[in-house]
Formats: sequence, structure tokens, C-alpha cells
Amino acid sequence: MAIRKIREMGDPVLGKRCKEVTEITPRIQELIDDMYETLYEAEGVGLAAPQVGVLKRIVVIDVTGEDPLLLINPKIMETSGEQEGYEGCLSVPGKSGIVVRPNYVKVLAYNENLEPFELEGTELLARAICHELDHLDGHLYVEKVDGPLVNTADLEDEEENS
Ligand code: ZN
Repeated sequence: MAIRKIREMGDPVLGKRCKEVTEITPRIQELIDDMYETLYEAEGVGLAAPQVGVLKRIVVIDVTGEDPLLLINPKIMETSGEQEGYEGCLSVPGKSGIVVRPNYVKVLAYNENLEPFELEGTELLARAICHELDHLDGHLYVEKVDGPLVNTADLEDEEENS
């Protein structure tokens, strides 16, 4: 396993649409392992493959630090409600902004054996899922921020970095 370099806003790779994963090759497995290691090292709650420069539809999320989730080729099936809160991104270091997201999402995704499963999330998990899936289509949360970006260090609340 290895820690990979996290690409930052302005890097063209973050603006591209990612390709579906059709086969779990040793290279893909290594990418997944590295994504987890990179996520935990950066103390984020989520990381998408394009953030480490790979245009594949793969996301890792862990909102508690003890609940790793791997989503391959994820698709949002259902959303409801609304939540407004500060959001951050490992690709936009040190900044946060207010983003409105659904409060509930249901996702269809595939695991490391490319078997389908459904995942439901509310609150922070719902936010993280929406944020990471946006990365797979080349979008950053800053496009959705209501108001100015602020310095994360100036916020009292704990931050989420995805
Ligand atoms: Zn992000």
C-alpha cells in the first residue's frame, strides 16, 4: 500500500468524467487499498479516485473512522429532504463552504467483487456520498457553495473533508 498524492483544485483531472470499472484487476485492488490509506492519512471522510489522478468510478468513504465503505460504479437511486452545512474537500485544502445536500440518499453500487448492493445514508453520510459522486462526474463542491468559501480553521465546528 502507498499514500498517493491528492490532486488539488485547478488540476484538470478533477474536471473529467470517470469511467466505469468493469473488472477488478490487481491494479484496481491496489488503487482501492491506496485510496483507503490516503484517506486515513489525510483524515478525510471520503476520497474519490480522480482525487488521486485515476479516472475510475471508485469512492471510499468513512464518516466515523471505523466504518469503511467502498462504492464502485455508484448511482444515486433516491434522495429526500435537505440539509445545509459546511463542507470541505481534500482537493481544496483549508477551505469550507456551505452546501445544500439531500438529507437522505439511496445508492446502488458494487463491492470489490463487483457484486451489487444498496446503501442508504442520512446526514453526514448522505452528504459524503453526494460529494464523492460529484467528483466522479468532474464536479467540485465549490460549484455548489452558497456564499463565500471560508478558512476551515476559522470554523468552530468540526469539518468534513472529502
Ligand atoms: Zn472532495
